Amino acid sequence: MTQDKFVIVGGGAAGLVAAHTLEAAGHAPLLLEREAEVGGRLRTDEVDGFRLDRGFQVLLSEYPEVKRYLDLDALQVSAFRPGGHVHMRQQHFRFADPLREPAQLFRSALSPVGTLNDKIRLAQLGLKLMRSTPEECFRGYTQQTTIDFIWKYGFSEQIVERFFRPFFGGVFLEQRLETPAAMFRFVLKMFAQGSAVLPAEGIQAVARQLAGKLQRTEIRTGHAVRSITDREVILDDDRRIPTRAVIVACAPDPFFPQLAGSGTEYKSTTNLYFYSTRRLKENRLINLVVDPTSTINTFCVLDEVAPTYKLRNQGGSLISVSLKECPDTDSVAQAEQDLLRHTRLPNDALSFLKQYDIPHALPRLGAVAFSADATQTRLIDRVFLAGDQQLNGSLDAAMRSGRLAAEGALRT
Ligand SMILES: Cc1cc2nc3c(=O)[nH]c(=O)nc-3n(C[C@H](O)[C@H](O)[C@H](O)COP(=O)(O)OP(=O)(O)OC[C@H]3O[C@@H](n4cnc5c(N)ncnc54)[C@H](O)[C@@H]3O)c2cc1C
Repeated sequence: MTQDKFVIVGGGAAGLVAAHTLEAAGHAPLLLEREAEVGGRLRTDEVDGFRLDRGFQVLLSEYPEVKRYLDLDALQVSAFRPGGHVHMRQQHFRFADPLREPAQLFRSALSPVGTLNDKIRLAQLGLKLMRSTPEECFRGYTQQTTIDFIWKYGFSEQIVERFFRPFFGGVFLEQRLETPAAMFRFVLKMFAQGSAVLPAEGIQAVARQLAGKLQRTEIRTGHAVRSITDREVILDDDRRIPTRAVIVACAPDPFFPQLAGSGTEYKSTTNLYFYSTRRLKENRLINLVVDPTSTINTFCVLDEVAPTYKLRNQGGSLISVSLKECPDTDSVAQAEQDLLRHTRLPNDALSFLKQYDIPHALPRLGAVAFSADATQTRLIDRVFLAGDQQLNGSLDAAMRSGRLAAEGALRT
């Protein structure tokens, strides 16, 4: 019997957390996912003996909803080192986070990533944000852009170009840093307090863990929803499912004519994977490329951080490369040349594994929020909205939005 059921449309992080919330209230929801597996933007493929995430993505251990719903020990996560390795045209140097690695303070103070003043300001800002709540990171900063905030805070052009732009450009998937400053402050707090980690079995393990812990939710994959009313959902194959309430945990505009034209725009990204026969030592750091002639924004050696990204016991290194912009057809050859230059690997060391072009990676949101009242998730009578686009572009937001929409639906 599907009558009177809560129906969730979309099996990404938002939909899965919505299911947890409904189960916790004693319900047995039905979750409909159009793909063959749940996960949404959290997907991992196994290719040629490697685990390849669909796009470079890290899990921030300090996210409030991650702490609430995920068992990081069971995910066997391993962490990147804080800071970054900056590659310029002629030089390269380590940039340590003074809050996370105080022993590196002296080295960091001398590194040419920014001025001494920049490093003092960054430490002060980090400490201030660590003492602030996530709500306080957002309050008053949702209209200002990240780049405006950074300039007004008194940082120099040197640290903007050598650290903030490549690092947060990679996080926000836009190099102009026009993302609201609220996100910059929140993400900086998360990095200062916690770690950027990878689950041993790839980023999709997050979704698999969420799905695996559900006990009374019926998950139907390969079921695309075509239309939604406040009484039923209609599947692509014309089947109708009566509903008690619906949680739309994906982009809602295709279902509701009243939302036409107000659909969310998305930022895209391109991620390439290479295998190097030579082992590359980058000390578990994210590499930031500060070189206008390079196509690469960041790269990292994944198996240094999570050795299980290599499925076979083989030597060499698995390298994930994120490009600055969506590339043209020669992108692989150009990126390979750039990577050889930045890593100083011999010409024959690299082989290309796979390219992921992800057109809908993060929502491009003018207005962001940390949270909302559950009642605000209601679109029409018995239809509730979830998904990262409802709050801000992050896994934390996706999970929180799922919980809030379910709490809203439970009041019907
Ligand atoms: C490359 C990349 C890097 C990222 N990096 C980070 C990061 O470092 N930190 C961070 O916090 N976040 C990051 N994110 C964002 C994070 O992954 C997302 O915010 C989160 O996964 C979104 O979850 P969601 O449930 O809102 O949406 P989605 O994951 O998009 O889930 C929506 C689901 O709905 C399904 N669906 C859609 N239409 C229908 C339909 N008609 N019928 C049935 N099902 C349907 C889809 O198939 C999908 O499974 C990154 C994302 C990408 C792609």
